[in-house]
Amino acid sequence: MPSLQNYSTFGLDSSCASLQTFTDIPSFLSLYRKDKPTYILGGGSNSIFTEDFEGTVLVNRIKGISHYDTDSHHFLRVGAGENWHNFVTLCMQEKWYGLENLALIPGSVGACPIQNIGAYGREVNTLIDTVEVVLLDTGEQLLINNHECEFGYRDSIFKHGLANKVLITHVNFKLPKVYQLDTSYGELAQLNAPTADDVYQTVISIRKSKLPDPADLGNAGSFFKNPVVSKDVFEDIAMQFDLVPHFIVNADASERPEKIKIPAAWLIDKAGFKGKTLNNVRCHPTQPLVLTNLGGATGEDVMTMANDIIASVRDKFGIQLEPEVRLIGSKGLISL
Ligand SMILES: Cc1cc2nc3c(=O)[nH]c(=O)nc-3n(C[C@H](O)[C@H](O)[C@H](O)COP(=O)(O)OP(=O)(O)OC[C@H]3O[C@@H](n4cnc5c(N)ncnc54)[C@H](O)[C@@H]3O)c2cc1C
Repeated sequence: MPSLQNYSTFGLDSSCASLQTFTDIPSFLSLYRKDKPTYILGGGSNSIFTEDFEGTVLVNRIKGISHYDTDSHHFLRVGAGENWHNFVTLCMQEKWYGLENLALIPGSVGACPIQNIGAYGREVNTLIDTVEVVLLDTGEQLLINNHECEFGYRDSIFKHGLANKVLITHVNFKLPKVYQLDTSYGELAQLNAPTADDVYQTVISIRKSKLPDPADLGNAGSFFKNPVVSKDVFEDIAMQFDLVPHFIVNADASERPEKIKIPAAWLIDKAGFKGKTLNNVRCHPTQPLVLTNLGGATGEDVMTMANDIIASVRDKFGIQLEPEVRLIGSKGLISL
């Protein structure tokens, strides 16, 4: 059974029945079998194989980047198997700005619309024009426009109506030539008259200082999503704890009732898990939203730690955390 350890940044010692790489649509279609469990993999930075997978893992390496521009925009067509950070870096070198806040996120371009990757105040959906897909059932190729992607916070149609139904082959970006930097978030707000390149470099250095590098310490980034709660729930918590960090999600007064996002890292910290180790899984000491593989962790270790965190946060705050990572069992995606 081929090992998946080097195909997932969490690095569990799991395997699959078959592991194949494809570089274009015909090679994907020749490998894909409707009647067998299949998992499409990009960089494996959001996928944790908690058990040996009984099906085929198809690794996407569709490459290629093309560009044209109009008076107002740069248009980029990017193969889903391109590395995300390398693509962002190329955009910076070419002065195609907009993606600077999303530097150093691991993984492939093809996965970016799936959970609508976001960081430091920017989500990728604001710059995606269309997504090119192949329907797994029929092999038909479709173009899905931004609106049809139904983007939300770490969410899109690819996790719902089109979950496990498509291969994303290309993502088409539309970057405005007249752009506004987003420096509202955290440390970026302290920059004095920054350029896009300053934002890009600052994001890289903040990420390097706070997040464990999967090359050194296995992890899959944020393990949980930041929960969005009602104003009532937030006010209950704020009465019991000082200085609860939060962001109003729908600041627009027409969108009521108000929804409030509370950082899951804060909840996990207050529940006593920051820096805690259980078997070979550790809740990261400088970013408790990240679980790390100290070496030799098993899928069971991961599930136990994750379920303990969920139960403790639920008991303390009445909030149900949801995983941001994809957990894969022997037959496919599983939930906690
Ligand atoms: C250290 C670290 C930091 C991170 N920071 C962030 C962050 O700041 N913001 C953020 O949003 N995320 C972050 N992540 C999560 C991760 O990088 C993103 O979710 C990324 O987009 C995953 O890309 P991937 O190619 O590795 O996905 P994979 O894990 O390979 O796949 C993820 C999901 O997408 C599906 N998929 C992948 N490619 C395709 C395709 N071509 N067609 C159809 N389905 C496909 C897979 O089946 C799977 O369900 C971080 C992860 C790590 C390890």
